[in-house]
Amino acid sequence: MEAVVPKLASFTFLNPNSPLRRFSSPSSSSCLCLLSSTDAVSLGHLTRPDFPILHQQVNGSKKLVYLDNAATSQKPISVLNALQNYYEAHNSNVHRGVHYLSAKATEEYELARKKVAAFINASDSREIVFTRNATEAINLVAYSWGLSNLKSGDEIVLSIAEHHSAIVPWQIAAQKTGAVLKFLDINEDEVPDLTKLRELLSRKTKLVVLHHVSNVLASVLPMEVIVNWAHNVGAKVLVDACQSVPHMVVDVQGLDADFLVASSHKMCGPTGIGFLYGKSDLLSAMPPFLGGGEMISDVFLDHSTYADPPSRFEAGTPAIGEAVGLGAAIDYLSAIGMQRIHEYETELAKYLYENLVSVPNIRIYGPKPSENVHRGALCSFNIEDIHPTDLATILDQQHGVAIRSGHHCAQPLHRHLGVNASARASLHFYNTKEDVDDFIQALNETVSFFNMFK
Ligand SMILES: *Cc1c(COP(=O)(O)O)cnc(C)c1O
Repeated sequence: MEAVVPKLASFTFLNPNSPLRRFSSPSSSSCLCLLSSTDAVSLGHLTRPDFPILHQQVNGSKKLVYLDNAATSQKPISVLNALQNYYEAHNSNVHRGVHYLSAKATEEYELARKKVAAFINASDSREIVFTRNATEAINLVAYSWGLSNLKSGDEIVLSIAEHHSAIVPWQIAAQKTGAVLKFLDINEDEVPDLTKLRELLSRKTKLVVLHHVSNVLASVLPMEVIVNWAHNVGAKVLVDACQSVPHMVVDVQGLDADFLVASSHKMCGPTGIGFLYGKSDLLSAMPPFLGGGEMISDVFLDHSTYADPPSRFEAGTPAIGEAVGLGAAIDYLSAIGMQRIHEYETELAKYLYENLVSVPNIRIYGPKPSENVHRGALCSFNIEDIHPTDLATILDQQHGVAIRSGHHCAQPLHRHLGVNASARASLHFYNTKEDVDDFIQALNETVSFFNMFK
């Protein structure tokens, strides 16, 4: 599909004099004064110009409304520039050569690791292992920590609302070790039942695996409290932070998390890279996950000795350009400020929920928002007698609105909710109230369209 860039007054990233231009340069991230003084303009309107992909028409001449951010986020021009600049100026292999470019690439790769560490407040950048994505990070923990620490009868506590990436690796580890998976249900408010969690935790519990923010229910778990409960019975905690790290302040030391995973592509960075945070004493005691170059200390024909973390877990040539891109994404997010992103998205999420709830015959999953209950910036829903895939297809083809339909990699949860699939609209900070308005209008028209065939 050819990108048609409309001539919008707000489409200013091409203008070198625009105040928004500061986002386009990886080095200029200091202008928060400007941001806070433009309260009249929403964060969505302020940042949209930085995302070239959003300014196009799809399926003929429909203005694109992108509401599939929980599946993947879009990338600002500063990230695209960082990728191009890396390949134009510094591309080389890391940690290997003594030449100028190799030193430069190594420096940039390690700088990206430092940026990730600072972003989630890890105490040391050696606690950050780069992986292909969050899924690989969870598998790393399951194979390395899991296979060497779990034994028959040990228990792993998860919720039925976990993403498949956080369930399947533990099924495999359980099959190999004889450990048992214990699943936490969701309660009548459609959030994981924390009363049940306390009952499930015991001295047998070796690991708790839970999402921070649900990619279906939009519920937010009080992770600090949960980590404390788990530690009280001697269990470790792996936090699936895929839907929290891109949207709010996440502080691994504040949470006291043992392991935490996220994916770059959901936080405005490139695909192909994610990360594992692990407490240094845990990582130091873990055996390698994959063997090869980069992860060794010495190699003999009959055995090898291994490098210290994080290299021990980064066999082979890593995703260097992608790491640089992730670093640029973190610069961009940090320039805006995660607290500001969170506040804006919380307001936009409320606006989405309030408007969606008035659509006839709709069922929105997850907790009802209230003064004490905040939802993540997404809504999964179904409309009576309309298949969510049909809904998503018409929204896309007739209105240019991109939402997700399916089980969102959470089949056990959908089974529990009594459906095979749901539709999901998910927001990021570059979305606006107009995006929500366009979506709601398109949805109402689509529902009327289907009702004609009833
Ligand atoms: C997206 C997602 C994952 C998996 O991320 P990948 O990038 O596909 O590895 C895991 N958990 C949650 C909650 C997610 O939203």
